[in-house]
Amino acid sequence: MSRKYLIAGNWKMNKTPADGADLAKEIASFVSKDESVEVVVCPTAVALDRVSQVIEDSAVKLGAQNLYPKASGAYTGEISAEMLRAVFAKYVILGHSERREYFAETDAFVNEKVKFALESNLIPILCIGETLEQREADETLEVNKTQLLGGMEGVSAEDAAKVVIAYEPVWAIGTGKTATPEMAQEVHAAIRSVLAEKYGSSVAEKIRILYGGSMKPANADDLLAQKDIDGGLIGGAALEAKSFCDLIESARKAD
Ligand code: PEP
Repeated sequence: MSRKYLIAGNWKMNKTPADGADLAKEIASFVSKDESVEVVVCPTAVALDRVSQVIEDSAVKLGAQNLYPKASGAYTGEISAEMLRAVFAKYVILGHSERREYFAETDAFVNEKVKFALESNLIPILCIGETLEQREADETLEVNKTQLLGGMEGVSAEDAAKVVIAYEPVWAIGTGKTATPEMAQEVHAAIRSVLAEKYGSSVAEKIRILYGGSMKPANADDLLAQKDIDGGLIGGAALEAKSFCDLIESARKAD
């Protein structure tokens, strides 16, 4: 496959800087310099700098969990793209369902962040996904299309090729319920065809689409074997070195 698998750990509001550094150290020692899989860890804001130093000489890359789409100023509690670049972050998770649900983030606001991240040389990991009610109402493809097009509004084809999409069915996040590989593949293929309509198929073929939602070593092989699943955005299983490294191993085998 021409797209490089990406395994990204979303640590959410877990791990002190010291605990994060320990975890990052173990992951870094597992990942080789000529790794076939791209590996990203996304600690909390306060742990970014420390984790960055730990992974500095490794192939593990740093991601943030959010940014605020302004250069600087009176935005108490927020973090800028420049600050993320200063600690050598390469990726930033945007539009996670927890931010949409608990912090009322809309597609328009997520879109501002996506564009700001790209202008700031950060790669957005744009999260989209339906709730259980929406799935049961047969709205899955429509909801994902709306969130995808909303998040990518005004993004050029050149920039779009850099963006990573994470399909995360909300009902599968942190619940232990995983979409079956077939259910996930159906949505991933639909996402790619929306991207192909908007940007053309050669750009759509370059864009990595990750699956997220209770991905763990026991279900990863089958998910990663699907044609349009290019890796995982992992919450719970990213908090332990063993399970996260097992997921990296699954992606190596799927390559
Ligand atoms: C996530 O929140 O991005 C996620 C996929 O979490 P979990 O793996 O715990 O379901």
